[in-house]
Amino acid sequence: MSAADLGAGRWFPDEMPSPAANAETVGWWEAAAQHRLVVQRCSQCGATRHPPGPVCPVCRSLASEWAELPGTGRVYTYTIVRQAFLPALADVIPYVVAVVEPDGAGGTRMVTNVVDIDPEEVEIGMPVEVVWEDIGPELALPRFRPRTTGAGT
Ligand code: ZN
Repeated sequence: MSAADLGAGRWFPDEMPSPAANAETVGWWEAAAQHRLVVQRCSQCGATRHPPGPVCPVCRSLASEWAELPGTGRVYTYTIVRQAFLPALADVIPYVVAVVEPDGAGGTRMVTNVVDIDPEEVEIGMPVEVVWEDIGPELALPRFRPRTTGAGT
């Protein structure tokens, strides 16, 4: 089963500001639009890095590739947002902003949201899996929900 089969939905309002891609991150966003969770990997030494950048911090190589990840991971840390920083968020608070460590990503972490759970039930170390929020035809954002498939807890 590929990550794309794990699910998709909407959790946040359209009024949320969209992320801006640049030359270094466009490959990551293109994969996300296809519901593929990837990490940038140095073609020279194999070190992973996130967010994407032009130079390997380990060996200084400019060559890199996108390594597809299984879409599972664990909550590294999180916080619960209880204040609507945008008026449009009034209907979705409280929500969870989390740092998730995806499996297979070489220890890199990404800032995301944990959804489909009471925020009070989120725990550090909790197994999670990616779900995709389609914002538009060319933009999808990875959120994570408590893991429901394989791999145990
Ligand atoms: Zn390298």
